[in-house]
Amino acid sequence: MLATPLGNLRDITLRALDILGSVDLILAEDTRVSAKLLARYGIKAPLRALHEHNECKSASSIIDLLQQGHSIALISDAGTPAVSDPGARLVAAVRAAALPVVPIPGPCALIAAISAAGLNAEHFYFAGFLPVQSKARRAQLEILMETLRTLDTALVFYEAPHRIRHTISDLAHAFQEPRDLIIARELTKTFETIQRTPLTDAVAWLDAHPDTERGELVLIVDTPATSLKNTTPRDTTLGDATLTRWLPALLEELPPARAARVAAQATGLPRSVIYDKIKSRRDSAD
Ligand code: SAM
Repeated sequence: MLATPLGNLRDITLRALDILGSVDLILAEDTRVSAKLLARYGIKAPLRALHEHNECKSASSIIDLLQQGHSIALISDAGTPAVSDPGARLVAAVRAAALPVVPIPGPCALIAAISAAGLNAEHFYFAGFLPVQSKARRAQLEILMETLRTLDTALVFYEAPHRIRHTISDLAHAFQEPRDLIIARELTKTFETIQRTPLTDAVAWLDAHPDTERGELVLIVDTPATSLKNTTPRDTTLGDATLTRWLPALLEELPPARAARVAAQATGLPRSVIYDKIKSRRDSAD
């Protein structure tokens, strides 16, 4: 599993070049795209297409080759394979055949975007691509909101440029409280831009910057500057509900002080409230 550049062909590791130059076969999502990268570095290993439509079907012949001792690298068009790209099903099959799978890390759009976004959030949740249909997209956003609302978590999405307008307006509807949106576009390429804007102004910002609807982009919804962990939660009943669900599981794994710290961070409830809960659980167990 070998990561390749997102755009700038110099973003490839020395180890990746060594491996591409020494394997017997390179599996590539689109051989025409990867041929350019390989030509740039004078790599002549044979290329074979492995994409979402033939990934499962190809697994047994690839496993046969590996069992015969051939070395194979898997790459995608850009970034890290199996991150919103083909690869995971093949990896599962290869591992199930007790053969080793080695990650060769490198570029990944979500990590590049996160690293340059200057997030307020301490954590992020990578939601990948939202559904294309608007009804399904809104339903998915509702589930995400419900699941993550008490956590100090930024949300990261991949999106196709021609859908950004619809997605941004759905995001603006989904988040009740003020949030910033970061649009990280054309990372590592000539027209790279990383723009932070209030989510509610994002469609207007797009109108003023129509170029954004071209090129590749990552969308990040950040948490507010004063993060939940430093404040009383807006709705303590939600924090409370999360606590009731999580506390027993946390206490099975962690000592009370650590469990209280983790739960306070996750729910936004004061630690003293959580200690009281732990104490009353203990008292009722005695
Ligand atoms: N496996 C890749 C990775 O490691 O990031 C992601 C592949 S996914 C099919 C393609 C999506 O990644 C694009 O729609 C876009 O959201 C994001 N992406 C890829 N290259 C990008 C770039 N140069 N700038 C911003 N986003 C990019």
